[in-house]
Amino acid sequence: MSSEDVEGLKARLPAHVRERVQSLRLADARAILVLDASGLDAAGREMLETVATEALTGAGVAEVRVAMMADRAAPAPRRRIVAVGSGKGGVGKSTVATNLAVALVRSGRRVGLVDADIYGPSQARLLGTEGQKPIAREKQLVPIESRWGVPALSMAHLVEPGQAVAWRGPMAGNALVQMLDADWSDVDLLVVDLPPGTGDIQLTMLQRFKPDGAVIVSTPQDLALIDATRAVSLFDKAGVPVIGVVENMAGYACPHCGEVSDPFGRGGAETAAATQSHPFLGRIPLDIAIRLDSDAGTPPAAGDGPQAQAFADVAAQVSAWLDTL
Ligand code: ADP
Repeated sequence: MSSEDVEGLKARLPAHVRERVQSLRLADARAILVLDASGLDAAGREMLETVATEALTGAGVAEVRVAMMADRAAPAPRRRIVAVGSGKGGVGKSTVATNLAVALVRSGRRVGLVDADIYGPSQARLLGTEGQKPIAREKQLVPIESRWGVPALSMAHLVEPGQAVAWRGPMAGNALVQMLDADWSDVDLLVVDLPPGTGDIQLTMLQRFKPDGAVIVSTPQDLALIDATRAVSLFDKAGVPVIGVVENMAGYACPHCGEVSDPFGRGGAETAAATQSHPFLGRIPLDIAIRLDSDAGTPPAAGDGPQAQAFADVAAQVSAWLDTL
């Protein structure tokens, strides 16, 4: 059969069928037609087949066989990564990362937590999963479920307590890769608790798993803010958008008289964020309940108090930012 014959045959098809033709052959008065059926349901496919068969039958074609190409599977949406960083340790970065993840889950997102803070892995304690070890399935780590709906993997799960700090460079980088490439199932957002500062882990993170955005945690004191500025510039240089700055340990409510004081000053992070044109995501008070609940493995964001609200407000802003991607 000549190509003109095939073209002539094809011309018999209505335009909406013709544009779905993958291939058309004629052999021994039998036309074999392969159509792309993407986006059609069963009734739509049947209709397409009927129309094509009727259009081709006759004038040298005794039989028409129609094959439908299976729908191409829709590509899985990419898992988003939000890094939580700080310029220095002790500002509550891990506390914010855990509670941000919990608050995002409460708002309906599927969130996992990666504790990449090799120098002080604390997510196992904060989520109440201390002592549990992740299993590996087909060479992939399986994250540890927590009671708060946040599966997590932590350096603390992979090494004996107190030994993580001895890890350097490539070893730590490998552990990070294993945690990010773990079997996260239907989790579509990973919150990554980065170590403070600008070391190997941050570089591996930026090179191999570039975060979609970063949340910077700082206390209000000037010194912490200077360090936070350094963390911000690391992300800026790597082209990672800074979602915003969280001011932690802001405003101390006296548990006895209720008077609010500002032992570390107030508003420093907000001013610093504004100076650098980064959004301010909110203020988390210095609150003994936050420390006690966190130490007990009960993230305050999972409760109903004002602490939970403070984290929910930050999470709502991060969520709104994610929706713009
Ligand atoms: P980082 O990850 O920056 O080193 P952590 O999250 O481990 O800091 O917090 C350091 C300590 O401060 C922990 O004991 C934690 O419970 C406590 N902490 C963090 N944020 C608050 C807060 N807003 N109020 C009271 N204690 C806090």
